[in-house]
Amino acid sequence: MTALAPSATPTRAEVAGVAVPLDHFIGGEWVASAERFDVISPIDQSLLAQVARGGAQEAALAVAAARAAFPAWAALGPAGRAAHLHRLADAIEADVERLAAVECADMAMLLESLRLRVIARGAANYRSYADLAVQYEERDWHSKGTWNRVQRMPAGPAVVITPWNAPFMLSTWKTAPALAAGCTVVLKPAEWSPLACALLAELAAEAGLPAGVLNVVQGIGEEVGAALVADPEVRRVSFTGSPAAARQIGVSAARNLVPFTGELGGKGPLIVFADADLDAAAKKAAGQYDDSGQVCLAGTRLLVQESVREAFLEKFHAQVRAHVLGDPRDGATTISPLIHPEHLARVEAFVERARAAGDTIVLGGERAGGLHYAPTLIEPASNDAEIVQQEVFGPVLTFQTFADEAEAVELANSTAYGLSGIVYTTSMGRADRIGRQVRAGIVWVNTFLVRDLTAPFGGVGISGIGREGGDYALDFYSDLKTLQILDGSVG
Ligand code: NAD
Repeated sequence: MTALAPSATPTRAEVAGVAVPLDHFIGGEWVASAERFDVISPIDQSLLAQVARGGAQEAALAVAAARAAFPAWAALGPAGRAAHLHRLADAIEADVERLAAVECADMAMLLESLRLRVIARGAANYRSYADLAVQYEERDWHSKGTWNRVQRMPAGPAVVITPWNAPFMLSTWKTAPALAAGCTVVLKPAEWSPLACALLAELAAEAGLPAGVLNVVQGIGEEVGAALVADPEVRRVSFTGSPAAARQIGVSAARNLVPFTGELGGKGPLIVFADADLDAAAKKAAGQYDDSGQVCLAGTRLLVQESVREAFLEKFHAQVRAHVLGDPRDGATTISPLIHPEHLARVEAFVERARAAGDTIVLGGERAGGLHYAPTLIEPASNDAEIVQQEVFGPVLTFQTFADEAEAVELANSTAYGLSGIVYTTSMGRADRIGRQVRAGIVWVNTFLVRDLTAPFGGVGISGIGREGGDYALDFYSDLKTLQILDGSVG
């Protein structure tokens, strides 16, 4: 085993005109690995970069750096940390164009969304948690003849593992509460889209975050990811990704008796009642193809009241026809390519199995050039069909009808997932009834993806374990302690 040699400057590759660091960022320095892995662009499948491929040694070094930085970061207190996190948010806001260009080349999200919305949300994540942590460090109250205080103690080094879709936004969403709560972090981005997180490391250094507070380790999940979550010095493990990986990571965390949170896959229902604004519902339903359906929260099961089946489908088809598959850097494009050839093959295999099983392909069902897959609608032969029950994570929706509220709820709750639900109705009573009965972490009525960062976020069933968002995330990254003092016993 060769010793890892930190350096003040990283190896870089030019990606979309930006010099992106390709090494790990550990303890405020750049660390290369003996091996590298290829990162390709979904836009044209060209080789973008060869990124350091970490293993057990890199994982141990990063956890040690996070551990060494922890006491001073914890001692800063919420206000001291908030100043750092606001500076990091400033740095992100000043660098939106570069971050957007790299993220677009790396994972093919629409450049315009990245520039106007997604990257800025990264800055908002740091600001929002910085302020929340300042507002709630301690709570005290009087009860039963005692004075009570709940104190949040930063838990220690945390490992944060993120998926390839929206990598920058999700990495900031997860590291923000950890850092605000006083944990130091080792972030492991996904191997299919690791580049914007490499820039995040650089911005953290430029913003003056102390060395070791935010470390970024690159590599393959089963290699460096598994080594990180198994490290006994890690005090929290936070993961976003597939239920399959979550099971393995959860087992590792359990071995060390370390709290684990998982934001996992989804198979959300999009329920359209006959009283709904059908134009709005059809538009939103066709919008589930955005980002080529690589959105965990997407409403991928269209459940439409039988009486408006034809009216809805006509409007839906018109909306789908308006989609433009193309290059994500082109402002006219509405659907970008899938992330990777392997993922395209996976999506295609789902549709081929559905076809073979007797499900009806109503729309699409074929490749559409490059890594594009045509927006696809499938009417399943039964609710037990694999295409209804399993997350595809591609531009594939299913279509089913229901007679009444009871059947809508039964279908909505009929998968093992429970991340999100979308309901279209103009009845307040129905919105309330269905909103209460759908089994999910979040239900939107007549809208989608609007997020209040203080609200809890997570899934039920195989869609997740634990909650992020607002104080829920700050609690996760803290050890809560209660102090009780008997009235009149101290002067
Ligand atoms: P994935 O589970 O394959 O990988 C996610 C991350 O985990 C990657 O960084 C990967 O390297 C790492 N990893 C994989 N195996 C590991 C292991 N054994 N130990 C440690 N790390 C490991 O998921 P993906 O394909 O990158 O992402 C798609 C999935 O993520 C979908 O299921 C999607 O719904 C889900 N997702 C959920 C949310 C949410 O908020 N609920 C958000 C985005 C994506």
